[in-house]
Amino acid sequence: MSPSQTPDDGADVSADGTPVVYRLADRCSLDDIEAGEYYHAEVNGVVPYGVFVDLTETVSGLVHESNLQGDYAVGDELVVELVEVRDDGDVSFAEAGVDDYDTEHVEAGPDVSVAELDEAVGETIALDGVVVQIKQTGGPTIFHLRDDTGVVPCAAFVEPGVRAYPDVEIDDVVRVIGRVETRDDAIQIEVDDLDRLEDDDAEETRADLDAALDERAEPNEVDPLVEWEAFEKLRPDLRAVAKRLRKAALNGRPIRMRHHADGDGICASVPVQLALERFVEAHHEDPEAPRHLLKRLPSKAPFYEMEDVTRDLNFALENRERHGQRLPLLLMLDNGSTEEDTPAYRNLAHYDVPIVVVDHHHPDPDAVGPLVDEHVNPYLHDEDYRITTGMMCVELARMIDPSLTDDLTHVPAVAGLADRSQADAMADFLDLAAEKGYDQSDLEDVGEALDYATHWLKYNDGRELVDDALNVNCDDRERHEDLVDFLATRAERDVERQLDAAMPHVEHERLDNDAHLYRIDVENYAHRFTYPAPGKTTGAIHDRKVEETGDPVITIGYGPDFSVLRSDGVRLDIPLMVEELTEEIDGGGVSGGGHLVVGSIKFVKGRREDVLDALVEKMADAELDAALSATSTADE
Ligand code: MN
Repeated sequence: MSPSQTPDDGADVSADGTPVVYRLADRCSLDDIEAGEYYHAEVNGVVPYGVFVDLTETVSGLVHESNLQGDYAVGDELVVELVEVRDDGDVSFAEAGVDDYDTEHVEAGPDVSVAELDEAVGETIALDGVVVQIKQTGGPTIFHLRDDTGVVPCAAFVEPGVRAYPDVEIDDVVRVIGRVETRDDAIQIEVDDLDRLEDDDAEETRADLDAALDERAEPNEVDPLVEWEAFEKLRPDLRAVAKRLRKAALNGRPIRMRHHADGDGICASVPVQLALERFVEAHHEDPEAPRHLLKRLPSKAPFYEMEDVTRDLNFALENRERHGQRLPLLLMLDNGSTEEDTPAYRNLAHYDVPIVVVDHHHPDPDAVGPLVDEHVNPYLHDEDYRITTGMMCVELARMIDPSLTDDLTHVPAVAGLADRSQADAMADFLDLAAEKGYDQSDLEDVGEALDYATHWLKYNDGRELVDDALNVNCDDRERHEDLVDFLATRAERDVERQLDAAMPHVEHERLDNDAHLYRIDVENYAHRFTYPAPGKTTGAIHDRKVEETGDPVITIGYGPDFSVLRSDGVRLDIPLMVEELTEEIDGGGVSGGGHLVVGSIKFVKGRREDVLDALVEKMADAELDAALSATSTADE
């Protein structure tokens, strides 16, 4: 050892004047060292012009031979003074040559939570969290880390496009040390070090984080928009769904919403989409997170088609591969309760894709129940379609983000009118909408406009257009009104045009039970591939006949291999009739379903007459609704 030296003026000394030499914890970074101070170091390389030393895994530098007093070999320890950290990150030291000193330990930057990061910009911090996404970019690897308050992207760089910390996987508990930076106003951590916690440490931290996640996922307590006893039975189920959705969002799990492409389906999905967007925005530092995590997709069919599920699954697997995302949670809205959905669900069962259903179509719980994680449906609580999906989902959205309430108060009325709900609560919902300046015909127009826009949007969610038409997340009331007026007028005109063509071809007969039966061949006597489609065309004809006769009416609109059914004042059980037809007509290829009194049936073209004849026979056996001559029923 070289002779002792007096410390420079700048170096810290302890109370009795002894110089202080710092020993850095492994996780310390350049931010933890200061020029003029002394540090314990270990030689990691010897070169002709000096020695390289490590203070920690990430803090290293050169002691130039001109600043070196002794001879050192790799592994030797010595005390160095920091000369400077250059802008390019090169660090130079000088041998301190102190014999008599006190050692002090330096811990890494303070532990902070994701929510506190905006107060720590520019600082080096430590953060424990669970990895929820690992995205390899052309530059750094981005680890999305979840703690008990939110999710933050952490950029770790080795070489362009090379995976940093290749041993770390999704769901690992890690401790990251890094500098809090802002990129395009968004907070990100530049990683100095990222360690997977092991064994007891990991289990303890994971348990803490999971408990905190569970608490944060707890939905908000909201007062119901209207007093409605029947609805209260559904509230615990909706709370469970809200919690599951919030948890998924916090856990970086994408949520894919599939909804029936009609007025009620839109009134259900748009509020939930908006609530989730706000929730994700509030808990993810990455401003792109809402776009990457949330998708709303209309489904043409009244069930989850194999085509849709195959696309969804393919998209999810691609995102897992390309963006290191988890597989999504599937949220079925105003759809998804029937046996016809089960092949699609079984397809998803090969992967980790939780399924959540909120629907009011007549369910087949035995078939669907085992395949889904949550199933909210009024029929499961002895209620029925009158509680529409839009009504349920406005409450669901408020449980996710109660600040949306004012934006949504007119939506249950739109949903109810679109699905012709006869719910007792409709009067209250209409009053609520009236407070916002909507009368019933305005609300019906909104429903028509949504239906019309959705028809032409086909597979597109039509985000902004739909928001404007529904007046949710829309800041321009006048534009909303003009748009609805335009769309609803076009819709009405198109329906008129369709009925002008079709009405002369409607066939009439009186069934044994005295109900009127109307039949229309929508394939040959209605415009095709336009608005209204066969289902709505049949519905419009049916409505006219109900109005004309004031008696119980059944209407069948049929094409080569399908038929659409509407009925009023007749106690049909369409799901049961489909089941019977499937058994009775061998080789008929019968499938279908829907509500009890409104539905659709598919069959093979060559057995159409047999299926329709058998169907009519069953209808003729059905009881009439004694209490009423004509009651509107749920539109499909
Ligand atoms: Mn509906």
